[in-house]
Amino acid sequence: MNPEQLELTIGWLYPTLMSTYGDRGNAICLQKRAQWRGIIVQILPLDQQTPAEVIRQADIFVGGGAQDRQQEIVMRDLRGAKAEILREKIEMGTPGVFTCGSPQLLGHYYEPALGQRIEGLGLLDFVSKHPGPDARRCIGNVVFELTASPLAEELETMVGTKPIVIGFENHGGRTYLGKVAPLGRVVKGYGNNGEDGTEGAFYRNAIATYSHGPLLPKNPFIADWLIQKALTQKYQTSVSLSPLDDRLAQQARTAMFKRLDLTNLSQEPVNY
Ligand code: GLN
Repeated sequence: MNPEQLELTIGWLYPTLMSTYGDRGNAICLQKRAQWRGIIVQILPLDQQTPAEVIRQADIFVGGGAQDRQQEIVMRDLRGAKAEILREKIEMGTPGVFTCGSPQLLGHYYEPALGQRIEGLGLLDFVSKHPGPDARRCIGNVVFELTASPLAEELETMVGTKPIVIGFENHGGRTYLGKVAPLGRVVKGYGNNGEDGTEGAFYRNAIATYSHGPLLPKNPFIADWLIQKALTQKYQTSVSLSPLDDRLAQQARTAMFKRLDLTNLSQEPVNY
């Protein structure tokens, strides 16, 4: 299929209420990497004013992090029709990247540092709890090996090596997984809770992670996987993306591996 005929709508959940620590970077990265392939991209903000039915237009979801207070406002708005459509889309395989506060809302519940438990959509089988205002936040660079199947295998085929993800986390809440698959295994950093070595979760084609908005610019192969999945779903035919010059991203990765004393992991191909 000729990429110039393709269109992609990125549904950005609550861009003003939920976009901490550079989360807009994920939306921009998807937009640019699709446009550089000649794909027509629309960024569709999905906020409090958006009628529920509009959520159906999204081919791919981006959801960012938020402070506890904003999460509560979002959760109140997301109940009912909006929640149902989002749930339906994710169940049907619409891909998405949900960061920090957003996955907390997709789980069973989030217990904030102060105040009442916020009920989530229950779409992902996990719970998140903040141990309280005096608890240490989980802050810093995070590195994890992507293990969720079939995502890990598909990425390995794409990049020709085990997919290692570099990110940045900043959260007070700790996530404890039920039956849902973790997204990956922590090499450096805290991940879901700083205890069990898991990071994020993967369900259908939804990526949940504590890694903030530099995630896709620093790991462009995940952005391309999301774009490819979205287009394949939308057009019901396999779509292949032309390679881009990712040398800058690669250099940033190499520098970060060096800084974190993980140079053994930095052997990765530039193009795929
Ligand atoms: N409020 C959540 C927490 O502290 C999410 C924070 C965030 O999205 N950065 O865990």
